[in-house]
Amino acid sequence: MSYDVIVIGSGPGGYVCAIKAAQLGLKVAVIEKRATYGGTCLNVGCIPSKALLHASEMFHHAAHGMDSLGIEVSAPVLNLEKMMAHKDATIKSNVEGVSFLFKKNKIDGFIGTGKIVAAGKVSVTAEDGQVQELDTKNIVIATGSDVAGIPGVNVDIDEKVIVSSTGALDLTKVPQNLIVVGGGVIGLELGSVWMRLGAKVTVIEYLDKLLGAMDADVSKQFQRMIAKQGMDIRTEAKVTAVEKTEAGAKVTYEPVKGGEAVTVEADVVLISTGRKPYTEGLGLEGAGVALDNRGRVEIDHGFKTNVAGIYAIGDVVKGPMLAHKAEDEGVALAEILAGQHGHVNYDVIPGVVYTQPEVASVGKTEEELKAAGVNYKVGKFPFTANGRARAMQVTDGFVKILADKETDRVLGGHIVGFGAGEMIHEITVLMEFGGSSEDLGRTCHAHPTMSEAVKEAALATFAKPIHM
Ligand SMILES: Cc1cc2nc3c(=O)[nH]c(=O)nc-3n(C[C@H](O)[C@H](O)[C@H](O)COP(=O)(O)OP(=O)(O)OC[C@H]3O[C@@H](n4cnc5c(N)ncnc54)[C@H](O)[C@@H]3O)c2cc1C
Repeated sequence: MSYDVIVIGSGPGGYVCAIKAAQLGLKVAVIEKRATYGGTCLNVGCIPSKALLHASEMFHHAAHGMDSLGIEVSAPVLNLEKMMAHKDATIKSNVEGVSFLFKKNKIDGFIGTGKIVAAGKVSVTAEDGQVQELDTKNIVIATGSDVAGIPGVNVDIDEKVIVSSTGALDLTKVPQNLIVVGGGVIGLELGSVWMRLGAKVTVIEYLDKLLGAMDADVSKQFQRMIAKQGMDIRTEAKVTAVEKTEAGAKVTYEPVKGGEAVTVEADVVLISTGRKPYTEGLGLEGAGVALDNRGRVEIDHGFKTNVAGIYAIGDVVKGPMLAHKAEDEGVALAEILAGQHGHVNYDVIPGVVYTQPEVASVGKTEEELKAAGVNYKVGKFPFTANGRARAMQVTDGFVKILADKETDRVLGGHIVGFGAGEMIHEITVLMEFGGSSEDLGRTCHAHPTMSEAVKEAALATFAKPIHM
């Protein structure tokens, strides 16, 4: 069989690239080694975690957030099996959606492991060992990423007691104590899920703050809020051992600045120290495809590897490991392969932490602007001064806008607060169009909405906020 494009991997990068390429008239096949399409994101990532984040938030709200609104309810009872069934049904409907879209767009799907035999030739090995060879003009590597361990520490992830995010999405009972190694997005989201359901959660983080790359104002405020919710946060702590015990597991860490080692015990330990590009068994070496010094497939501005006809996108290449970044690369590459001019604006890729409150960010942080010597100004507005936030009892957090001091062009937006993940998009669109804080501040916003805080933060950047 012969194709214009064969995509290896059906995550948000791969499946979106395949659909777009087919929409543009190319003959496309996708190879996926998992039993279902959708990659990490739909099967064991974004989608299942959000199903559990929502359900656990509802549980927590029913237990703690109703009384002050004048609604008296008896203590909610957790049915974890049913909650997990909701998560599984959410996964099922999403992965089936991808299968449907493949059929609709006449994309051939192959379940099996894809291997690049040479430029223009890919083999698919099915679970029963049968091998098929396919010819193609172009190959797209979209094989994503896998769990990274802890550098220098031998960790035996059994997905029951010592778990990765995959096991943490599938626990059969609420742990009494959960240790989260790594205070990044995935650890904090999954830690929040189990904390809301009753676990005592301890987060051990090497850096001096949570959410490493986020704007420092935002991560500081967020850390205060999550600690107030009961999460035990231990920063500047270097984990040196993770071991199983009779009762569960123990984690040993040393203070980064020196001092006595500390051991913490728990019934479950989540290792969430990051992800690494996944290239195993792909035949890259044989095909002569170069990797960079971090094991990622090396590409140029047009997603081209060093071998003609082989391209790569998503988590397996440089850039933030985010589903929407992979999707945008998929669309841009499909356009390039169809002879158009695909492009991704890497300066305007939002990032969201789906905790409660949410944290959302786009563009530069204040620290990045300082380091680059940019002359910038800051506008901030707290949700305590927003009428809708008061009505909904979600006054924690603020909006922060960073703009160029001379041109007023918005360079970054950072929000911590209820619904931050939705609100960030008006700053994202503004930045995509090269807008200024005055453009944003003079745009009429519906009242009463949380988004008025974004407008007020913009007003605070170039003039003065009204409601403060
Ligand atoms: C718990 C968790 C929560 C997350 N939440 C979010 C979120 O809320 N928002 C967000 O933007 N991102 C989130 N992410 C990150 C997101 O999942 C990834 O950025 C995204 O899935 C990357 O897409 P991709 O297409 O590059 O690769 P993947 O989604 O990893 O897909 C790659 C696919 O390739 C397949 N594959 C690999 N090798 C082969 C081979 N040789 N042959 C055939 N198939 C192969 C794999 O089986 C996999 O299905 C989360 C990740 C995790 C783990």
